[in-house]
Amino acid sequence: MTDYSSSTNGHHSSNTSAGPRTDLLSTDPNERVEAEPIFQGDIDTDKNVVVCGAGGFIGGHLVADLLRQGYDQVRAVDIKPPNQWFQKFPEADNRSLDLREKENCYRALEGADQVYNLAADMGGMGFIENNKALCMLSVTINTHLLMAARDNDVDRYFYSSSACVYNQELQDTSDVEPLSEEDAYPALAEDGYGWEKLFSERMCRHFREDFDVTTRVARYHNVYGPFGTYDGGREKAPAALTRKAIEAKLSGSGDIVIWGDGTQTRSFMYIDDCVKGTQKIMHSDITEPINLGSDELVTINGLVDVIEEAVEVDLDREYDLTKPQGVDGRNSDNTKILNELGWEPPTALRDGMEVTAEWIEQQMRRHREEETTSRFAVPH
Ligand code: NAD
Repeated sequence: MTDYSSSTNGHHSSNTSAGPRTDLLSTDPNERVEAEPIFQGDIDTDKNVVVCGAGGFIGGHLVADLLRQGYDQVRAVDIKPPNQWFQKFPEADNRSLDLREKENCYRALEGADQVYNLAADMGGMGFIENNKALCMLSVTINTHLLMAARDNDVDRYFYSSSACVYNQELQDTSDVEPLSEEDAYPALAEDGYGWEKLFSERMCRHFREDFDVTTRVARYHNVYGPFGTYDGGREKAPAALTRKAIEAKLSGSGDIVIWGDGTQTRSFMYIDDCVKGTQKIMHSDITEPINLGSDELVTINGLVDVIEEAVEVDLDREYDLTKPQGVDGRNSDNTKILNELGWEPPTALRDGMEVTAEWIEQQMRRHREEETTSRFAVPH
């Protein structure tokens, strides 16, 4: 396993312990929980914490980190059946519930002190551009959860918003100005998904103002890392391109198809930073929506360079201009989070992608082996 402890990357770091965690990748969920916690704030582990969307990418990592810190009442909720959760921990109270339904939200939040709402029907560009109504229906999840939080006297409520709330007109060049929090208005959010996020942010604000629910809102900018989706249609650029690069390596073709012309710019946040920042914001006094993202801007071509190195393959690039490619440029302005928390996501793309690519390759090799084994297995 690579030693990342002394890695230097040219990207600024506000944290001396910067760098991705490789000790959290064990296939044994118990080992992942026994590692050092990512977040080590001033915490009260007697609290009852509910993570909604716990079967998904970020939710699974958050549950793991809460358990690592010693929270002994963690309720993990997701619509998916338990065998489809990306990570599942026997120490948590795991429940399969459809949180679009009001009564399920009340059941999920019974006795809750703190609630993280990470549940949403979402995916990468390919998914959100073709499923706008589905994305907007997630509004029922946050609305019913807020009502249940109010009626159950929840202490704190976190909502995971997105950089997709930002005005599209400010993102029509790859040489983009980083987006600061006020750039969400006048509103012209990403059609479907972005408008749902913007509306739900406001719902949090009004529940705080009118009903005294302590709400916190982070606007995540592209999150990537191990235990995320890398195939099936909902995957985002870093995982999708990594999967394609590994396919090119394993098949020996060396070919990769990139959506768009490769000049679009983005920033990508490593999952550990997301989990840490989420908890920092949850326990802060920051009442207004705040960016949680990396400000290391990279073109999609630059991302492919990083992936080529991580996967150890030379790629022949082909560009498919017919595919959804999102806005031309997007970056996170971290002035506010630095002012408020004295912290920003520190992990360099190169470091995070190395761990992520290693994990995706392990999964793909395992699936290939399983397929080969089952294809040649003697039927009973
Ligand atoms: P994910 O799709 O991996 O996880 C979301 C989970 O919510 C899934 O497991 C899904 O089954 C669950 N869910 C969907 N509908 C539900 C329902 N009706 N009831 C209960 N559970 C339901 O996504 P993620 O990457 O972990 O994202 C978590 C949150 O962060 C989402 O709100 C997402 O919009 C937001 N976000 C993510 C990113 C990113 O780059 N991953 C960027 C911006 C915002």
